[in-house]
Amino acid sequence: MSAFKAMVIDKTDAGQNVGIREFNEADLMDGDVTVRVSHSTLNYKDGLALTGKAPVVRRFPMIPGVDLAGTVEASSNPDFKPGDAVVLNGWGLGETHLGAYAEKVRVKGDWLIPLPEGLSPQQAMAVGTAGYTAMLCLMALERHGLRPERGPAVVTGAVGGVGSVAVALLAKAGWHVIASTGRPEEADYLKSLGASEIIERSELTGPAKPLAKERWAAGVDTVGSTTLANVLAMTRYGGAVAACGLAGGMDLPGTVAPFILRNVSLLGVDSVMAPKALRIEAWSRIARELDHEKLAAMTSTIPLDGVMEAGQEIVAGRIRGRVVVEIG
Ligand code: NDP
Repeated sequence: MSAFKAMVIDKTDAGQNVGIREFNEADLMDGDVTVRVSHSTLNYKDGLALTGKAPVVRRFPMIPGVDLAGTVEASSNPDFKPGDAVVLNGWGLGETHLGAYAEKVRVKGDWLIPLPEGLSPQQAMAVGTAGYTAMLCLMALERHGLRPERGPAVVTGAVGGVGSVAVALLAKAGWHVIASTGRPEEADYLKSLGASEIIERSELTGPAKPLAKERWAAGVDTVGSTTLANVLAMTRYGGAVAACGLAGGMDLPGTVAPFILRNVSLLGVDSVMAPKALRIEAWSRIARELDHEKLAAMTSTIPLDGVMEAGQEIVAGRIRGRVVVEIG
């Protein structure tokens, strides 16, 4: 059995220990497809796993990394054959199943989708779970019947990964995008992605009133806590907010007033267990609708040995846009 290079998190009495080492193919977990990984990416959840700041990792040793793009090396799954280019987002990779910061993974073929036409493996990882979640949020708002004619859309945590892609996708779909950020110095960046207005994060982080002045018809919230409560309280009659994140906290200190007095809806968005048909639809829309130049402008690239430092940065809210991790 061959060995390959992987980043491994071990649990020690002192906490957790993270390093790059040789990993034996025989120690990979069950699955019917082996993939040679070319690229992965860094998401907020990867930062939590690497730093141990939240109990994301459920078994040790763990190879972190929730996203991958690569090429099938061996398969007993009828849907995939050696040489196929594939993408995987979520399904417990880097949490319960050995993940993507490695030259090889063994996974269930059901978790894989073909690399979307029109995207390179590098671009697919520039999108990653963060960008695919942004598309799931847009699709949830549209399923609710919301269109740009109804009014502006707010995006919170706008300079982050989900936020940056959400700004670009909503603007491309014709929305007047209000980007909320704690980094006003990134206003030009957000405008270059398509934001029409920039607001200070602090406008949304204080205690929320049950109802406040109606400011937007739709929202994509990556922050949670008082930010989400304020976003809901400021949503127009009949509007909706797609909630996908907790960068500011997991609580939701608000009231039911927006729901029962303004007919506002809160739409939950999970990317990890999203069914395959929804994933394929989201990815094919990303391939068609996300401007490649904007994607490149929001993306930086790091080697595998830069992941630990970048993980600390993302948890501290200091990463702009998306980070691709070059593996093989
Ligand atoms: P990033 O760290 O790239 O972005 C998060 C952004 O939130 C930051 O850039 C910052 O934006 C803002 N922020 C950070 N800390 C705070 C704070 N204390 N108060 C208010 N705003 C804050 O992470 P991602 O974009 O990768 O992920 C965003 C969130 O979405 C995370 O919570 C992540 O777990 C979640 N997520 C959920 C998924 C799902 O399936 N539901 C999938 C992917 C992500 P700014 O500087 O502009 O204010």
